[in-house]
Amino acid sequence: MPDCIFCRIASGEIPAKVVRRTPEAAAFHDLNPQAPVHVLVVPTAHHSAARDARGAEGERQLGHLVAFACEVASELGLDGGGYRIVINTGADGGQTVFHLHLHLLGGRRLGWPPG
Ligand code: 5GP
Ligand code: ZN
Repeated sequence: MPDCIFCRIASGEIPAKVVRRTPEAAAFHDLNPQAPVHVLVVPTAHHSAARDARGAEGERQLGHLVAFACEVASELGLDGGGYRIVINTGADGGQTVFHLHLHLLGGRRLGWPPG
């Protein structure tokens, strides 16, 4: 998707503070962090939202992204304190960038329920 900001970050075309990148996914720090650690995990392949990653391949990709986010959390030292992985979906979910992404949040005690 040529005009998609996260496609361009995942491919390396646009710079970001990348934590880890593989051919399938990229993890990079959020521009506007909501916690001491706020990393976004995106697939290289464009899906507008989680609900668009369909079928066996979509399910495999979603599983991979969660596992990848957990590896990044470990790498960033979050295993002891814990963390939260969030996927905002659609307007009510608070999604503003329409390329599937996981938020990895940690480094402070997070409130519940979310706002
Ligand atoms: P959403 O609201 O769609 O779940 O999350 C989008 C997130 O992307 C927001 O937390 C926002 O701060 C972040 N973001 C938007 N544009 C950029 C960008 O160009 N670079 C980075 N690193 N983060 C971005
Ligand atoms: Zn995209």
